[in-house]
Amino acid sequence: MVLSAQREALELRDLPVPAPGPGQLRLRVRACAVCRTDLHVVDGDLPHPKLPLVLGHQVVGETDDGRRLGVPWLGWTDGTCRYCTSGRENLCDHARFTGYDIDGGYAEYLVADERYCLELPDVYDDVDAAPLLCAGLIGYRSLRLAGDAERLGLYGFGASAHIVAQVARHEGRRLFGFVRHGDEAARAFALDLGCEWAGWSDELPPEQLDAAIVFAPVGELVPAALAALGKGGTVVCAGIHMTDIPSFPYELLWEERSIRSVANLTREDGEEFLSLAPRVPVHAETEVFALEDANDAIARLRRGEVRGSAVLRL
Ligand SMILES: [Zn+2]
Ligand SMILES: [Zn+2]
Repeated sequence: MVLSAQREALELRDLPVPAPGPGQLRLRVRACAVCRTDLHVVDGDLPHPKLPLVLGHQVVGETDDGRRLGVPWLGWTDGTCRYCTSGRENLCDHARFTGYDIDGGYAEYLVADERYCLELPDVYDDVDAAPLLCAGLIGYRSLRLAGDAERLGLYGFGASAHIVAQVARHEGRRLFGFVRHGDEAARAFALDLGCEWAGWSDELPPEQLDAAIVFAPVGELVPAALAALGKGGTVVCAGIHMTDIPSFPYELLWEERSIRSVANLTREDGEEFLSLAPRVPVHAETEVFALEDANDAIARLRRGEVRGSAVLRL
């Protein structure tokens, strides 16, 4: 399924089976989860994709010699810049991303640099494993950056929050869920996932929070989340794109509150999270689509109709 130009639908096309270059593996795709980032690429919120492009960066594939591996968003780094050499390859100056700079998994085959592929726990089937690769991984990194917060707010209950909620409960944290005003289905989903309280994103929780993770790409949620924090609390913005954050009084930031973003992932995040997931155990709810229905999957995600994660199964 090929994106030829931003703001256009993907087209089903026959492409040559890609040939692996040095250090690359060819993988036959078995499942690929759909990420909100894919919407941002289609919609032009992320301005510089390779075009034409095959989207998809939560890929479960099988190598020519029969190994099952995951292909995540981080597809390549230079290994030499000041970020790579200080354990922050997620911030590499020359990073290349799967399904953005490199063709991804909305296809029958892809090639990937073997060094960035991840081993997948055997207990997960292909569809269940796919959402762990970005929704799970980025969620996990966001949770780590929220520190040891006991009272944790989650804003937006999409694919990532539904996985993070499971990990956070496993760690003994108390969860407070925030969803779009009036979205009763999302509120019920947040409660199902172990939130002790779930309300609208313009409400204050019954107790002050130690940290909040904002998954929804809505800048207004940042001052709303700051207002819900106790002293010293942190707001973590988990998305790759967000609408502008409106101005707010300094008082909301005062008393050592902070705001930070999460960018990409390191291979170490991937290994840590994928070894933790079966111990929680994380279970991703999924809605399955055929590859040729990728445009429907994207449209349903855009309308907020997917419960958990949309996954293309091949
Ligand atoms: Zn680098
Ligand atoms: Zn993603």
